[in-house]
Amino acid sequence: MKDIIIIGGGLAGLVSSILLKKAGFEVMVIEKKGYPFHRVCGEYISNEVKDFLLAEELYPTHLAPAEISRFRLSSPDGNVAEMPLDLGGFGVSRYALDDFLYQKALALGVHFLIPTQVLSVTQEEDHFTVETNRDGIFKSKLVIGAFGKRSRLDKQLERRFINQRSPYIGVKYHIKLDYDADVVALHNFQGGYCGINRVENDTFNLCYLGSQKSLKKYGNIPDMEAQVLWKNPHLKAIFQQAEFLFEKPEVINEVSFAAKKPVEKGVFMTGDAAGLITPLCGNGMALAIHSAKLLSELIIKHEGNHPKIVSAYTRGWNALFKQRLWTGRQLQRLFGSSSLSNLAVGLVKNSHSLSTWLMKQTHGQPI
Ligand SMILES: Cc1cc2nc3c(=O)[nH]c(=O)nc-3n(C[C@H](O)[C@H](O)[C@H](O)COP(=O)(O)OP(=O)(O)OC[C@H]3O[C@@H](n4cnc5c(N)ncnc54)[C@H](O)[C@@H]3O)c2cc1C
Repeated sequence: MKDIIIIGGGLAGLVSSILLKKAGFEVMVIEKKGYPFHRVCGEYISNEVKDFLLAEELYPTHLAPAEISRFRLSSPDGNVAEMPLDLGGFGVSRYALDDFLYQKALALGVHFLIPTQVLSVTQEEDHFTVETNRDGIFKSKLVIGAFGKRSRLDKQLERRFINQRSPYIGVKYHIKLDYDADVVALHNFQGGYCGINRVENDTFNLCYLGSQKSLKKYGNIPDMEAQVLWKNPHLKAIFQQAEFLFEKPEVINEVSFAAKKPVEKGVFMTGDAAGLITPLCGNGMALAIHSAKLLSELIIKHEGNHPKIVSAYTRGWNALFKQRLWTGRQLQRLFGSSSLSNLAVGLVKNSHSLSTWLMKQTHGQPI
């Protein structure tokens, strides 16, 4: 019988494991992949979480993350605007960041099962049963679901959103390019948008949210990029001038922004498993870390008392994140079409106070 089993070792799972282990709980993380590995992610992290990471000695100073302070936006026809970022952020690859946090957790004595997939989780009268694909069955007092935006467990837990199809795909590259190191840019194209920002080692992340419909129409990723993304002259220049470092891109399907619940069948959901904010807000990683902190502090405060944590976490999660995720979904409507993204570019160009206010609606206070 473990105190806590954490399913998924991304940012939410790793940060939860570290905070809970430091507080004296016996923690086991089950992750289906082996570190280090690449993930589809823009790798721009809002400074909302920087002070917290520094205070917990979880900020990867040794990687010299890029410091990002300007936002650039272009419409599919190349109309461009720029504004300073209020809070700003830093750029670091998930390959390096997640591995750094994994090493920290290991050093603290967190127990890992990797690469192991969880097949099912069931709430019994006073404990949970967790079934894995290769290490057997485990029991624990609490379970944290940190398994990201989409997992087979969503189906097993009969979560509502899992039956809705999503029209989005995510694609990511690492590239070498002569580009501004302090900028995070969002270049729109028909049906999606592509972000670019620097990470460690003079490398840039190039990552986009595109549509399954376009991929189906053009049959493969290179043709879709040439026919759809390159219509934006900024993207055409980036794709033509860049040196691509991966043999092939990282790709994910079914990127869903549907509303979810923070507790399902007794399992506490953190990070994307509780709700994914649209990538244009640049806040998913900060939210994953922030929700992990919220949940861990409540588990510590209520000494693992499940019913008390259920109500405190549901209240706390809704108060901190529900509105931000909703606003992100509404803002996303301004992207991916020519007329609406020109409107957004006009807003950034002509009304600094309104665009800063809009941006703040998806950002939290530094934690
Ligand atoms: C295209 C795109 C661009 C983005 N860009 C940005 C950005 O620039 N900035 C930003 O802040 N956010 C961005 N995000 C969002 C960000 O990537 C996520 O919010 C963040 O990764 C969430 O972390 P997490 O720990 O919740 O989930 P993840 O990092 O996805 O980790 C979940 C883990 O669970 C594991 N897992 C799943 N199922 C099982 C199972 N059954 N058993 C065991 N393990 C399992 C997975 O292997 C994975 O390692 C972007 C998202 C997309 C789609």
